[in-house]
Amino acid sequence: MNLLILGGTTEATALGRMLAGDARFAATLSFAGRTQRPLAQAIPTRTGGFGGIDGLARYLTDQRIDALIDATHPFAAQMTAHAVAAARQAGVALLTVLRPAWQPGPRDRWTEVPDMQAAVEALGGVARRVLLTVGQKDLTPFTSAPWHDYLVRSIEPPPPGVLPPSARFLAARGPFTEADEHRLLTEERIEVIVTKNSGGTATEAKLAVARVLGLPVVMTARPPPPEAEIVADAEAALAWLLRRHAAVQRGV
Ligand code: NAP
Repeated sequence: MNLLILGGTTEATALGRMLAGDARFAATLSFAGRTQRPLAQAIPTRTGGFGGIDGLARYLTDQRIDALIDATHPFAAQMTAHAVAAARQAGVALLTVLRPAWQPGPRDRWTEVPDMQAAVEALGGVARRVLLTVGQKDLTPFTSAPWHDYLVRSIEPPPPGVLPPSARFLAARGPFTEADEHRLLTEERIEVIVTKNSGGTATEAKLAVARVLGLPVVMTARPPPPEAEIVADAEAALAWLLRRHAAVQRGV
């Protein structure tokens, strides 16, 4: 079976590793091209947008793709919507890999907000020391609240002009340990964390440390899930692929 995996996540990389060398599948992993130095992968990759829904549908047809696996990040809403529409257009089977969202426990001090503008408003009018871990794409709304002292952490530096001039930048790629996060939050005297509900284990440690330190967290909610068949992780995606492959072999 020819597979296209839409990636940029731990799950996509893990699925690629599971499929590498398996003669039943020929899989390509697709990156948007947002990071300069993407992690090495176990299967062939391609990089860059497809040119919208029609471009992706054309790619699926031209490359004779049998199944499209959307393993993009839970906040990559446009790519996910395009995957649903293009798979339908091209008549290709689609599976979405969507890791479960984080859930607050009784000792968590979360303010849950629907979007980044609401996250800015939740910080309030009094200056606070903020750890901002929302990714490069979602920084602009915070320019409207320049009185806070922001420490911005993402894989690569944000482009100039998307943050108040006083913000500091920390380049780092997860996974992060609780010891690392404890050191960062205490040394930087962080008073509030702003993040989005990505789920997964790679960036979860900051939430555990916030709980221990009694720090508030502004948690931005996910976009709605797609209307597609959804599994939670790479193992379940592999099981789905094996079932499909067996059905194809039986001529179902
Ligand atoms: P997005 O807003 O949903 O997508 C914008 C456009 O980028 C898409 O329409 C598509 O262009 C292109 N694109 C996105 N993912 C692609 C992929 N895997 N392969 C080829 N083209 C892709 O996406 P985003 O939120 O900017 O995320 C970009 C990438 O970063 C994704 O691979 C995602 O998994 C990863 N990522 C995102 C986040 C996040 O918080 N958003 C966090 C970690 C990793 P065309 O319309 O031209 O096809």
